[in-house]
Amino acid sequence: MSETTLSRAVGAPAPVPGDAGAPARTTWAELGAADRIRAAYRDGRPERGVAVEALGELLTELDADRPAGVVLSACVQLATALPLLAETVPRHEALHDGLAGRAVIALAATDSGSGSDLTGAQTTVRRDGSEAEINGTKRWITNATTADWLLVLARRRAGPHFTNFDWVLVAADTPGVRVEPADTDLFTGSGVGHVHLDGVRVGSDALIGGSGRGLPLFLRHIAVERLAGGLWATAVCRRVLSATRRWLVGREPLWEREGVRLDYARALVRA
Ligand SMILES: Cc1cc2nc3c(=O)[nH]c(=O)nc-3n(C[C@H](O)[C@H](O)[C@H](O)COP(=O)(O)OP(=O)(O)OC[C@H]3O[C@@H](n4cnc5c(N)ncnc54)[C@H](O)[C@@H]3O)c2cc1C
Repeated sequence: MSETTLSRAVGAPAPVPGDAGAPARTTWAELGAADRIRAAYRDGRPERGVAVEALGELLTELDADRPAGVVLSACVQLATALPLLAETVPRHEALHDGLAGRAVIALAATDSGSGSDLTGAQTTVRRDGSEAEINGTKRWITNATTADWLLVLARRRAGPHFTNFDWVLVAADTPGVRVEPADTDLFTGSGVGHVHLDGVRVGSDALIGGSGRGLPLFLRHIAVERLAGGLWATAVCRRVLSATRRWLVGREPLWEREGVRLDYARALVRA
């Protein structure tokens, strides 16, 4: 089933065909201008973690009238990218502009080749005096085509050890960064793409969060993305069940059947 057909079947807004992430950027800017991004955190401070109820409400609102790709774009930034920046570089413009909805931040962890096996990632960061150089490819990165900043997980030395990785905060227009949109019709609006990093030179202050702390930081903050994914999934279930009930009630004989109502009730309880 295509994303458009699927969206219509479950009462979701249809994705915008052929876009490359622009609706996500617009939504992000709207949320920032209305101070909705800060409101998703305890006391409005991302370093204190997400305010679960507020985040759930925000994702429910987005799910109601924005395509899935736009919700995904916001979800990654709200749950992981901004809290990670708040913990590591609380005074950086990327965080400040991100919270205001003026900047989009991509979280580039998944590497070409190794996928979910993060400790097999090949992207490297090599310190060179007051500078550092990054080389590698990140695949399937949400917000890649629209990002102002890329949070790149990179290997500082060879081998699978847990302490072999750093985070590097890279401006998306740095020479050597090339973004290729992912060849998919799914999640349109999310700006999902592949990021090629060829001899990208940054100041050593772009290495954030402490040497060797890349994976511990990733684990702590990706856990919140899983929580946000759960909140989003709940919103999707509620929306689909409401649409299903409206559809069934509109076809009187169907809603009158005991078996149909029982199946519906079971789904409702499960959700
Ligand atoms: C729309 C979209 C958006 C994304 N956004 C981001 C993003 O913003 N940032 C980012 O860093 N990444 C992102 N990703 C990448 C995503 O995190 C990866 O797709 C995921 O980690 C899996 O990697 P892979 O696709 O290479 O699959 P693989 O690692 O190749 O795995 C393929 C299958 O094998 C299974 N498998 C793998 N290893 C094992 C094992 N040891 N034992 C048993 N089963 C195993 C997996 O569960 C999976 O079912 C995105 C992906 C998509 C599709």
